[in-house]
Amino acid sequence: METRVGQDLAVALQYLMQGQTVAIPTETVYGLAADANNEDAVLSIFAAKNRPTSNPLILHFADLPQALPYINEFPSVFKVLYKEFCPGPLTFIVEKSSVVSSFITGGQQTVAIRFSAHPFLQKLLVKLDRPLAAPSANLYGQVSPTNASHVYQQLNGRIPYILDGGSCEHGLESTIIGLQDNKVVIFRHGGITAEALQTALGYIPETKNKEESGILTSGMVKYHYATQTPLYLGFKPIHEKDTAVQITITNNLEIEGPHLILSNANLLEEAARNLYATLHHADGLGMQKIYIQPFIDSGLGKAMNDRLFRAAAKFAK
Ligand code: AMP
Ligand code: MG
Repeated sequence: METRVGQDLAVALQYLMQGQTVAIPTETVYGLAADANNEDAVLSIFAAKNRPTSNPLILHFADLPQALPYINEFPSVFKVLYKEFCPGPLTFIVEKSSVVSSFITGGQQTVAIRFSAHPFLQKLLVKLDRPLAAPSANLYGQVSPTNASHVYQQLNGRIPYILDGGSCEHGLESTIIGLQDNKVVIFRHGGITAEALQTALGYIPETKNKEESGILTSGMVKYHYATQTPLYLGFKPIHEKDTAVQITITNNLEIEGPHLILSNANLLEEAARNLYATLHHADGLGMQKIYIQPFIDSGLGKAMNDRLFRAAAKFAK
């Protein structure tokens, strides 16, 4: 299959209406979208990504009214967060209605819903008047794409169209939240920080993992977001002979050899926006190893560390 790249919303819309997959820009990372009401279309998302079908997908809507037929209830505390953060990088896990098929939810009774702020995706959703199912537009387990050329590198020949909406504004996946015992909990750290949620809620939402919650989230898989080049946390040991590129948040004059910087101004937002693009770039340098410094464990640093630990876990001895 030939993969075209363009900025034509009408072409994207046509493919989606025909039941094909299209890579779409969002404010977090690029998504691989298909008509959520068309089972064959959704199955081709899993096929293109090599993603296990047990792994549930996020449904994207233009706004809450569009989502209501697909869910049983939108709890009042979620309405508060919706008002504060949506459209934006926040995904809500809620009870699904009977309209949502189990091929979307991996057989679970809950569904993940999100309202993206990207104008291209907003326009597509309004025109389609139905949800798009869209996980990140990468091959399963690999680094997420934050521009059209990242998508092309991984999915060329596997999908018909990449809608090029430029570089993603946030660069990290959405924060996934749910409700347990009437309290908001975080299933995946992402673009909306725990601190921002705390300000809106009046308490710090707990972070839950798969073992505790019994919920399946691909972001919880131990090995994920991995580069092809073995990736390690920390600095390159001084006497190591292997070639390596080192990544740090800001400039570090003590580093010798290939060195990539995520934010000249030492800002977490800028580092988050550049993180995946820098990993893609580092991966293409032909080095034997990548070393990256973990971030401060607060704000967006939490989400970035989470991705780095899962990527590094793949290469840990
Ligand atoms: P991505 O694959 O990067 O789009 O991320 C989508 C995330 O949402 C994955 O980690 C999914 O496992 C997660 N997800 C989707 N639906 C659900 C659900 N019903 N319960 C828990 N996590 C979900
Ligand atoms: Mg993903």
